[in-house]
Amino acid sequence: MTTAPALLPPSARVYVAGHRGLVGSALTRYLTAEGHEVITRTRAELDLRDPEATAAFLRDARPDVLVLAAAKVGGIMANSTWPVDFLEDNLRVQLSVLAGAHAADVDRLLFLGSSCIYPKHAEQPIREDALLTGPLEPTNEPYALAKIAGISHVRSYRHQYGRRWISAMPTNLYGPGDNFDPETSHVLPGLLRRFHDAVAGGSEEVVLWGSGTPRREFLHSDDMARACTALLRAYDEPDPVNVGCGEDIAIAELAALVAEVTGFGGRIVWDTSRPDGTPRKLLDVGRLRKLGFEPAVALADGVRDTYRWWLEHKDS
Ligand code: GDP
Repeated sequence: MTTAPALLPPSARVYVAGHRGLVGSALTRYLTAEGHEVITRTRAELDLRDPEATAAFLRDARPDVLVLAAAKVGGIMANSTWPVDFLEDNLRVQLSVLAGAHAADVDRLLFLGSSCIYPKHAEQPIREDALLTGPLEPTNEPYALAKIAGISHVRSYRHQYGRRWISAMPTNLYGPGDNFDPETSHVLPGLLRRFHDAVAGGSEEVVLWGSGTPRREFLHSDDMARACTALLRAYDEPDPVNVGCGEDIAIAELAALVAEVTGFGGRIVWDTSRPDGTPRKLLDVGRLRKLGFEPAVALADGVRDTYRWWLEHKDS
């Protein structure tokens, strides 16, 4: 009797595309600590939007496993300012990496999507089968459509070529190595930066975007790395798997936590001319829990830890 090869053998060589990003860097640390050889290329060494260069690299490197963590990502303002870049860059990277991985016979691949692929008014908590059941949130529709194409692309390779490729849909992630630019970042690093600058500049007021009422779920990138590895080890189905912690908080509550962590005691003003985005995005994480995954980093600890990291690295 022949058995299928292990999904993630301990000796597997893993190419992490996007190893300098928030997820890719956490995953590189975690897989290395687990004893895997991790292959990386910087953006200067390899432009993943270039299909020939990507195919040549993969043919030569021949990884056993590929994690596609390279993507153009950004917060609500970045997405609505540069929609063409979010659509095109992500589609191009996905096309060249997935086609290149198939040509190089990469048997195991994890594609990372995002919780914004789900309809704006999806029933909460959002189950994986809510995909394509309603209109998307307009502020990040181009990004979401690129990611939805990626999920379909992965499923299609499974269906047509029997590839053991899978997709994960993470909630809002944060952690060391994130983008802290106040205009283009996601909300959590953006708030750390705004409150820090207010304290450093002796300001009594911080202006935040929207109404503060939208709710978001946050997961630390170290937990995301553990979840990705758990999926690579045990999951082999066409449907994507949500990755989250199962709890959400209002942006105003997050602001109060970040104010405490940064030592800000002044006033918070909500600029309602800025978009709120989708009202709520809490993922149903039942499928992931069945695989035995539980997050380990509590939000308050993770925010403190991320702030510490940024203080140590902000000048470099
Ligand atoms: P989203 O989850 O795709 O909507 O992306 P974000 O992480 O950028 O934003 C989450 C929520 O935080 C939205 O309701 C924003 O309006 C709100 N928000 C409040 N202040 C800020 C800020 O300074 N930066 C960002 N990115 N979002 C903010």
